[in-house]
Amino acid sequence: MKDSFNANPRPHFVIVPLMAQGHMIPAVDMARLLADGGATISFITTPINAARIRPIIDRIHNSSLPIRFIELRFPSAEAGIPEDCENFDLITSENLLKPFVEALPLLCPQLESYLQQSSTPKPDCIIADNWHYWTVEVARKFGIPRLVFHGQSCFSIYCSTVLRRRKTLDEIEDDFQVFELPEMPEKIEVMKAQVRRWVDSPDGYNIRQMFYAGEAAADGIVINTFDELEPWYIDSYRKKAIGKKVWTIGPLSLYNKHVEDRASRGKPSSIDGGVLLQWLNGKTSNSVILVSFGSISRNPFPQIIEIGYALEASKIPFIWVVKEADSAAAAAVVDIETDKWMSEFEERTRLTGLVIRGWAPQSVILSHEAVGGFMTHCGWNSTLEAIAAGVPMVTWPRFGDQFLNERMVVDVLKVGVAVGVKLPPTKVVMAAGEKGLRVVRREEVEEAVRKLMGRGEEAEERRKRVREFGVMATKAMEDGGSSFHNLKDLINFAASHST
Ligand code: UDP
Repeated sequence: MKDSFNANPRPHFVIVPLMAQGHMIPAVDMARLLADGGATISFITTPINAARIRPIIDRIHNSSLPIRFIELRFPSAEAGIPEDCENFDLITSENLLKPFVEALPLLCPQLESYLQQSSTPKPDCIIADNWHYWTVEVARKFGIPRLVFHGQSCFSIYCSTVLRRRKTLDEIEDDFQVFELPEMPEKIEVMKAQVRRWVDSPDGYNIRQMFYAGEAAADGIVINTFDELEPWYIDSYRKKAIGKKVWTIGPLSLYNKHVEDRASRGKPSSIDGGVLLQWLNGKTSNSVILVSFGSISRNPFPQIIEIGYALEASKIPFIWVVKEADSAAAAAVVDIETDKWMSEFEERTRLTGLVIRGWAPQSVILSHEAVGGFMTHCGWNSTLEAIAAGVPMVTWPRFGDQFLNERMVVDVLKVGVAVGVKLPPTKVVMAAGEKGLRVVRREEVEEAVRKLMGRGEEAEERRKRVREFGVMATKAMEDGGSSFHNLKDLINFAASHST
């Protein structure tokens, strides 16, 4: 696809992602897509984050794509956080969350100084994660448009916009009250506690207010989704909720055509690629369930046991990604009890299961034909990656937009089975553990897994639907597809601001 869009002149995008895996991974994919389509990119990062994605940076440099990785010093000292805490998944205590967020605007002087350097091409457009609301000022200073990048579903963004505008949650006193989402084309029910933090900031924060202000001041919105997946929500968000230009350019993960590209997303994998593929190749088509809860969520030990016994009892082949027993992780997240239990579990289940302790090459696994199901925390990247791969889901949301993503997967798209968790953890979820979680019993986990992986009519229908969405996703990203068209339009938009 190199230079196929012929954008003339080559516009310079400055991409400012949030330092969190779920934000950086799609931002790297977006950078490569834009560069491949005729743009020049400055990708803003920090030393530890750059070191983590070194393999992909090296691949990009070897491919000659015009992407510069700009390493700004993370202002840890000014924010009063440990020196190496440069990513959400390195935050080991809830007390560090607020200072981490407050450190982000302190990046502003360094970014401005980079953009002023004579060796920097003149910037034409900023695409910033909505956590970086401070980029409003940078765009103003340089007289260029600023777009907000949403790595969430349009469904969840639309819901939060409507709930906030109508002040719906203010009218509901009880956190546990179930209510019907307003202004929707179908009946969708949620509990206030499931969406509260997604709509308004937790006590003591005004981060969501800043998101909304940053979004209102944006010149347009870029979303990692595709038109055919959620047409009503994209259209309604565009026309009724935000009233500005919206570019849907996903699923971004599909940019990674080669297994090496998929394998190098995020962090270096904790499992040897050859061992993994050999294991998967030995399994029949659609027989394996992948169990993984994203980059931030962690299960407490009692929950790990329940998941383990459920997988064992189901006798369904599985790959289970267990970050709680990652010996390479920071000491704070290693749990000796879990480690010991996992070793015994692995020994007992070695004929049916594969445990990955640490980082898994999720895109590689999901796109393997042996994989027929995915137990997920409903992070939007994971959800969209599963849809793009045509894999149905067991949904197990934790926080943020994840409860809404569950509703989308189960009620709107009808490609998932809910494990049945009703409440988010009481505290903000940290790598250190989710202390407030209700433990979902092994029987419930097993039932959801069996339902998903079974051969009944309902299961087959789910499989068929998600495969159809997968085909649509691939077409959207191909030459002539909706996301391909939108990406081209986005590049032309920036080019039209180039002087
Ligand atoms: N991911 C991965 N390996 C892991 C865990 C996560 O490759 O072991 C990737 C996953 O494919 C997705 C991202 O990390 O692209 C997680 O983003 P998501 O929005 O699903 O969840 P979050 O981590 O932000 O909660």
